[in-house]
Amino acid sequence: MTQNPDPPALLLQHHLKALRLPVFLREHPKTASQCAQDRADYATFLLRLAELELLERERKATERRIKAARFPASKSLDEFDFPAVAKLNKSLVLELARCEWIQRRENVILIGNPGTGKTHLSIALGLAACRRGHAVRFFTAAGLVNALVEARGEKALLRLQSQLAKIPLLIVDELGYVPFSKTGAELLFELLSQRYECGSVIVTSNLPFEEWTGVLGSERLTGALLDRLTHRVQILMIEGDSYRLAQSKRRRSRTPAQEHPA
Ligand code: ADP
Ligand code: MG
Repeated sequence: MTQNPDPPALLLQHHLKALRLPVFLREHPKTASQCAQDRADYATFLLRLAELELLERERKATERRIKAARFPASKSLDEFDFPAVAKLNKSLVLELARCEWIQRRENVILIGNPGTGKTHLSIALGLAACRRGHAVRFFTAAGLVNALVEARGEKALLRLQSQLAKIPLLIVDELGYVPFSKTGAELLFELLSQRYECGSVIVTSNLPFEEWTGVLGSERLTGALLDRLTHRVQILMIEGDSYRLAQSKRRRSRTPAQEHPA
């Protein structure tokens, strides 16, 4: 007598694993009974499972992109208090969150005083890009320059440069707090020049453009950098003082009765 073949359930389990369809594997009994209830046909059953698998795949890919971006915190546009920065064009920010500018390889520059939400907005736009399927990498300007300087003179620099060139959105946060060495400024310039019309950058700075020379050290380099960076750019000027400071002042000026309404 020949041995019984594997029961179909076991074979199905094996095949779905081999095909890397974990959601099919997990969900097919439940979806089958739902489809039986709804008197849905075989194609609908298959479609429902395929949709679930696809959704799960997209969710995981987004999660991986967010992790790879190395954001310093998680910030969303929903949490952003737009009325607090009345002059900021909210509809422009919401449009930027749709990420069409990344497909056009344009740039965004955010300029404003410390604490006015530049990092918050750059993270929120970066997260939006991850959700739309774009790879993103967040750096502080000092961190990026350090990484470039450290990699200099070795194959590591070429490797880093080509890694970053593949990323559609690079965020360079806090340009202006620390002046760069000559080499650092040149490497940053080289990197941003390589990206020109090949990829997008968000740069945030507490300094108006006129003062960027103080950070980059050379007027000629600053001019050339701004020329490339601002060719196709949306510049968001955030006026006013620190949001946190304003919040804590507001809290302190509240009377206890207001703070704990009956
Ligand atoms: P910047 O990068 O301009 O120095 P941040 O983005 O780091 O400022 O903002 C400082 C803190 O204040 C962060 O926790 C940020 O989430 C918060 N913040 C700033 N502006 C706003 C705003 N308009 N709405 C909500 N939170 C804000
Ligand atoms: Mg910041």
